[in-house]
Amino acid sequence: MAECAHLDAITNVRLPARRECEECVKMGATWVHLRTCQTCGVTLCCDSSPNRHASKHAQHAKHPVIASAEPGERWLYCFPDEAFAEY
Ligand SMILES: [Zn+2]
Ligand SMILES: [Zn+2]
Ligand SMILES: [Zn+2]
Repeated sequence: MAECAHLDAITNVRLPARRECEECVKMGATWVHLRTCQTCGVTLCCDSSPNRHASKHAQHAKHPVIASAEPGERWLYCFPDEAFAEY
Protein backbone atom coordinates (compact mmCIF):
# COMPACT_ATOMS: atom_id res chain seq x y z
CA MET A 1 0.00 0.00 0.00
CA ALA A 2 1.25 3.44 -0.87
CA GLU A 3 1.71 5.87 1.99
CA CYS A 4 0.78 9.02 0.19
CA ALA A 5 -1.65 11.69 1.30
CA HIS A 6 -1.58 13.24 -2.18
CA LEU A 7 -3.03 10.12 -3.78
CA ASP A 8 -5.54 9.66 -0.97
CA ALA A 9 -6.80 13.22 -1.56
CA ILE A 10 -7.79 12.55 -5.18
CA THR A 11 -11.46 11.77 -5.58
CA ASN A 12 -12.03 12.74 -9.22
CA VAL A 13 -9.26 11.86 -11.66
CA ARG A 14 -8.61 14.61 -14.20
CA LEU A 15 -8.44 13.34 -17.75
CA PRO A 16 -6.68 14.96 -20.72
CA ALA A 17 -8.59 17.64 -22.61
CA ARG A 18 -6.47 16.82 -25.68
CA ARG A 19 -4.12 13.92 -26.18
CA GLU A 20 -0.99 15.95 -26.80
CA CYS A 21 1.83 17.49 -24.77
CA GLU A 22 1.16 21.24 -24.67
CA GLU A 23 4.83 22.10 -24.32
CA CYS A 24 6.02 19.74 -27.07
CA VAL A 25 3.42 21.14 -29.45
CA LYS A 26 4.83 24.66 -28.82
CA MET A 27 8.39 23.43 -29.43
CA GLY A 28 7.60 21.17 -32.36
CA ALA A 29 8.95 18.23 -30.35
CA THR A 30 7.62 14.68 -30.07
CA TRP A 31 6.71 12.55 -27.04
CA VAL A 32 6.30 8.91 -26.06
CA HIS A 33 3.50 8.83 -23.47
CA LEU A 34 1.23 11.46 -21.95
CA ARG A 35 0.44 12.31 -18.33
CA THR A 36 -2.17 14.66 -16.90
CA CYS A 37 -1.38 16.83 -13.87
CA GLN A 38 -3.99 16.22 -11.18
CA THR A 39 -3.57 19.69 -9.68
CA CYS A 40 -4.03 21.94 -12.74
CA GLY A 41 -5.12 19.49 -15.44
CA VAL A 42 -2.30 20.20 -17.92
CA THR A 43 -1.31 17.24 -20.12
CA LEU A 44 2.43 16.78 -20.66
CA CYS A 45 4.91 14.12 -21.74
CA CYS A 46 6.38 11.29 -19.65
CA ASP A 47 9.93 10.54 -18.49
CA SER A 48 10.55 8.30 -21.51
CA SER A 49 10.02 11.33 -23.75
CA PRO A 50 13.00 13.53 -24.69
CA ASN A 51 11.69 16.60 -22.87
CA ARG A 52 10.09 15.05 -19.78
CA HIS A 53 7.66 17.91 -19.43
CA ALA A 54 5.41 16.22 -16.86
CA SER A 55 8.14 15.67 -14.26
CA LYS A 56 9.62 19.15 -14.88
CA HIS A 57 6.16 20.61 -14.34
CA ALA A 58 5.69 18.60 -11.13
CA GLN A 59 8.98 19.94 -9.77
CA HIS A 60 8.59 23.56 -10.79
CA ALA A 61 4.88 23.97 -10.09
CA LYS A 62 4.98 21.65 -7.04
CA HIS A 63 2.06 19.67 -8.41
CA PRO A 64 2.74 16.20 -7.04
CA VAL A 65 0.35 13.82 -8.79
CA ILE A 66 -0.10 12.83 -12.42
CA ALA A 67 -2.43 10.35 -14.07
CA SER A 68 -1.62 8.39 -17.16
CA ALA A 69 -3.32 10.01 -20.16
CA GLU A 70 -2.89 6.87 -22.25
CA PRO A 71 -6.07 5.13 -23.42
CA GLY A 72 -6.86 2.11 -21.25
CA GLU A 73 -4.39 3.03 -18.48
CA ARG A 74 -5.92 3.89 -15.12
CA TRP A 75 -3.19 4.81 -12.66
CA LEU A 76 -1.87 7.74 -10.68
CA TYR A 77 1.67 8.55 -9.67
CA CYS A 78 2.97 10.86 -6.95
CA PHE A 79 6.42 12.29 -7.73
CA PRO A 80 7.56 13.34 -4.22
CA ASP A 81 6.49 10.03 -2.64
CA GLU A 82 7.24 7.85 -5.70
CA ALA A 83 3.87 6.22 -5.08
CA PHE A 84 1.61 4.50 -7.61
CA ALA A 85 -2.10 3.83 -7.30
CA GLU A 86 -4.60 2.29 -9.69
CA TYR A 87 -8.11 3.62 -9.82
ZN1 LIG B 1 2.36 11.90 -2.39
ZN1 LIG C 1 6.48 17.42 -23.79
ZN1 LIG D 1 -0.02 21.09 -12.71
